[in-house]
Amino acid sequence: MKIKKLEDLQTLVSLSKRRGFIFQSSEIYGGLNSCWDYGPLGVNLKLNVKKAWWNAMTRRNDIVGIDASILMRPEVWRASGHEETFTDPLVDCKKCKNRFREDENVIDGKAVCPKCESTDLTEARNFNLMFKTFMGPIEQDSDTVYLRPETAQGIFVNFENVQTTARKKLPFGIAQIGKSFRNEITPGNFTFRTREFEQMEMQYFVKPGDDDKSFEEWKQIRMDFFGKIGVNKDNLKFSEHGPNALAHYAKAAFDVEYKFPFGWQEIEGIHNRSDFDLSQHQKHSGKSLEYFDEVAKEKYIPFVIETAVGCDRLTLAILCDAYREEHKTLDNGKEDVRIVMGFKPSMAPYKVAILPLSKKPHLKEVAVKLRDDLSQHFDITYDEAGSIGKRYRRQDEIGTPFCVTVDFESIDDNAVTIRERDTMGQIRIPMDKVKSHIFEAL
Ligand code: ATP
Repeated sequence: MKIKKLEDLQTLVSLSKRRGFIFQSSEIYGGLNSCWDYGPLGVNLKLNVKKAWWNAMTRRNDIVGIDASILMRPEVWRASGHEETFTDPLVDCKKCKNRFREDENVIDGKAVCPKCESTDLTEARNFNLMFKTFMGPIEQDSDTVYLRPETAQGIFVNFENVQTTARKKLPFGIAQIGKSFRNEITPGNFTFRTREFEQMEMQYFVKPGDDDKSFEEWKQIRMDFFGKIGVNKDNLKFSEHGPNALAHYAKAAFDVEYKFPFGWQEIEGIHNRSDFDLSQHQKHSGKSLEYFDEVAKEKYIPFVIETAVGCDRLTLAILCDAYREEHKTLDNGKEDVRIVMGFKPSMAPYKVAILPLSKKPHLKEVAVKLRDDLSQHFDITYDEAGSIGKRYRRQDEIGTPFCVTVDFESIDDNAVTIRERDTMGQIRIPMDKVKSHIFEAL
């Protein structure tokens, strides 16, 4: 048997649409560029990713969660530096009129049009990536607000609220999952770079001087996390930002990169943001954001170690990682291809598929009862249409780790067959043991 992994993204885009992971936004109107909708499978997968991250972050004594609003006072973005510096250099090709990011396609140190390869370009203009909108019924400048381009600022402006109400002492962290918006010049590669996306960010507040150690610890914790949710370690690496690539707020920065079919790309940023953000908000708001250290009997502005991962990007990495084709030559010389989404079971959109061997009412009754019982504990899917072989293949393609087949004997012996996705091995067990079997396997 030959195993092929995902070679081009289009294969995944097609599978996602065919099976219901991800659809183009507003598709019946021709689609909205760079926006995507998660279907029944995609939403389960993404929720599993979020749950894994949320639990890893907040089920520890030193991190609490919040959920801040997307719209914030415009001063927040002035203080954070986004109004001034959250820009990308935009150029137009004089030959084919293509508009693109100056740093998108650089050959021998020169920007080259990715469409027609001309180097005859306009001067670069700085383009701010923040989406503007208006608050209230009259479109006046004073009512201009931004859709947040990152979730982090919602955490910084709530630092004091959270620290005092949760009665946390340093070091402690605040975690948040939420939508962010960036008017990217060149979105693309499916859900990799979009204009609306979800982020999972955690800001860890530490005493100045403890930041370097904490930074190293968080790098390790975050890399371990990806392994725990089943991402192949060979497809992950760190990449350090050189001094010229550091963001205006950063003292140090590492990206976690994943090997996508289109190359190594960032999925998470781990940053030492120093005391930049809290100092800026203290200056612009006039409110003290100093922390009183009861042990050292001194006041200071904490340093921040940030871990920022894109939920959609990570979900895309998990989809890429899970895909495999098993090619086998059959006795009749024909080639059989089994497509499997080999998700770690905890990430799989459905844990179990219930498959009655036939639609006969007495069999269906047993299968539906089992489905409803198991649905109390797991995400379950039910399928009674088509041959059992085809139904197994359908489940393989959406990554369901277990198929439970209810057959005619089940009515007499109260037992069912459980088929495992990766080995295709089958065992027969009593129906009332299915729940504990799946729990154990998960
Ligand atoms: P990039 O260099 O790819 O634009 P970034 O360095 O600007 O990303 P951060 O600001 O550090 O990204 O955001 C943290 C994470 O948020 C990224 O690692 C990525 O997973 C996610 N993210 C950022 N921009 C987008 C986007 N346009 N679409 C999807 N996810 C994004």
